[in-house]
Amino acid sequence: MGKVGNLTNYHSHSLYCDGRAGMEDFVRFALSEGFTSYGFSSHAPLPFSTAWTMEWDRMDDYLSEFRRLKAQYAGSIELYLGLEIDYLNEESNPSVRRFKELPLDYRIGSVHLLYNDRGEVVDVDVPADAFRKVVDGHFGGDLERVVRLYYKRLMRMLELGGFDIVGHADKMHYNACCYRPGLLDEPWYDELVHAYFSEIARRGYQVEINTKSYHELGTFYPNERYFSLLHDWGIRVQVNSDSHYPERINNGRPEALRALKRAGYETVMELYGGKWKEMPILF
Ligand SMILES: [Zn+2]
Ligand SMILES: [Zn+2]
Repeated sequence: MGKVGNLTNYHSHSLYCDGRAGMEDFVRFALSEGFTSYGFSSHAPLPFSTAWTMEWDRMDDYLSEFRRLKAQYAGSIELYLGLEIDYLNEESNPSVRRFKELPLDYRIGSVHLLYNDRGEVVDVDVPADAFRKVVDGHFGGDLERVVRLYYKRLMRMLELGGFDIVGHADKMHYNACCYRPGLLDEPWYDELVHAYFSEIARRGYQVEINTKSYHELGTFYPNERYFSLLHDWGIRVQVNSDSHYPERINNGRPEALRALKRAGYETVMELYGGKWKEMPILF
């Protein structure tokens, strides 16, 4: 099926994690915006509690609430269930059996956390001013080390697998550039990012164009400067808003689709009938 407009989103949060509304509010808003295919991707449980991840004891609820909505809205919109799973360490990442056994339609793999030298978990998916404090307070102001640690973990996540879509591929770039303007043009950084995308291409993962911060910060994740590289390397992409609020599910989508077209993309990936399909960009 698939109607005009590329009205889809597969990265969204709800009250099961740090989203600000129930799943059904997102569905209603998606319907009112004319979306044809929509997916949920709560932050998967970690081995410890956080303010932003789901707990394991909520998982059955998550699955059954989704099944209820899927049945209720069948015929009006295609609904899909996923998770955004962190690569934390070798025991907790998208490739572990506990996640693989879940009856999900797709999985997003992301890195939000690093370890400092004392073995403590440090959140680097934070606003730029907090990121600066993390680099200075936990890593002695060594930005290059933090960036290399981040990509090392992302690379390990690619190796281990267990997911379909790379979440906000180079999200740290915004904070790192606030810390050190011009970073994206530094050869070592460019090399690191190229090696990463080349590995993504080799292993056939999809990359999302994450529009969450586009209106606020003026960048997609990954940064638009890599779109034509992704295209040349045959990487399939999808546009996701990573929305935590129903009214933001459509944010930045037309802008991302236009940017993809400028980079040579003619299609984006969308889920119909339970399968990823390459759909023409209709912008
Ligand atoms: Zn994320
Ligand atoms: Zn997310």
